[in-house]
Amino acid sequence: MQVALLSLSSCLGCQAVFLGLEEYLYTIIGENRISFAPFLMDSREIAEVDLALVEGTVRHAGHFARAREVREKAARVAALGTCACFGGVQGLADRFAEEEIMRRRFGGEPCEGAPGGVKRLLPLDSFIKVDYYLPGCPPTQELMKGFLQAALAGTQPLREGSTLCAECRVSCPELPQPGPRRTTEAPPRKGECLIESGYACMGPLTRDGCGARCPTEMGVPCRGCRGPSDRALLDPGTDLKGETVRRLARATGKKAGEVEEAVNDPAHTCFMFCLAEPALRRRRREGSSPYIHRMGGR
Ligand code: SF4
Ligand code: SF4
Repeated sequence: MQVALLSLSSCLGCQAVFLGLEEYLYTIIGENRISFAPFLMDSREIAEVDLALVEGTVRHAGHFARAREVREKAARVAALGTCACFGGVQGLADRFAEEEIMRRRFGGEPCEGAPGGVKRLLPLDSFIKVDYYLPGCPPTQELMKGFLQAALAGTQPLREGSTLCAECRVSCPELPQPGPRRTTEAPPRKGECLIESGYACMGPLTRDGCGARCPTEMGVPCRGCRGPSDRALLDPGTDLKGETVRRLARATGKKAGEVEEAVNDPAHTCFMFCLAEPALRRRRREGSSPYIHRMGGR
């Protein structure tokens, strides 16, 4: 199989996981031909390929042109990582106007030759048709391997759709608990459910698949790097911030309004990896747009 591996606007983290696949990487190279991968080899032109693995977001006109080109040349396109699937942390930049971003980045100096930015950051499938998705920031090696095994065999990779809580092995503490609180204020007790302990854990709304490694292995709340679960994306009644506030209110025995005050940075707490996702944006628009206002958006 002919394969291309490329980045748009990204940190190259997903490609780093690809390179860290160790023995399986040799299997991939032995059984397929990687014809375009600027991160790995000197390659300038994208040839016709069977599968293109695309990491990152469309941040400017150059990325848009590259995304269009890869779509034309690849039989199948895979969105690699949460940036490509849901916009990722880069979506947080949309809280600011383009001029403000340029001012912060380049200090207000005119930037000669800089390509025009896109008005709004969106997932890759808002620009081109995507066949396969592998969210994760970055995806674990196990997820990457399983995904590539399926995609390189020409079959649809598994799409985990349940929530992180379903695979999280923790016990529930006695309620009520103090909070809402941050891990810097009081370290969580390992092995106990974080949201039930008064910490804003995004596990109930986040896609499963990573093995709930942050709560179970490190004892810290999930930040949602696998992106929203199917229910969070598809159920119009699901409200990421509202649901987190309700769960924290129940855990701490406080009123929802009081908890809401304490969650004073909802963009980072609840939407860190998915602020750009159109399915969630639609719910924040018009009369029901308090999120975007509270998040300091336009
Ligand atoms: S710690 Fe987080 S991911 Fe685990 S069960 Fe509790 S809310 Fe869900
Ligand atoms: S627990 Fe949450 S933040 Fe941590 S790797 Fe899994 S999805 Fe990402």
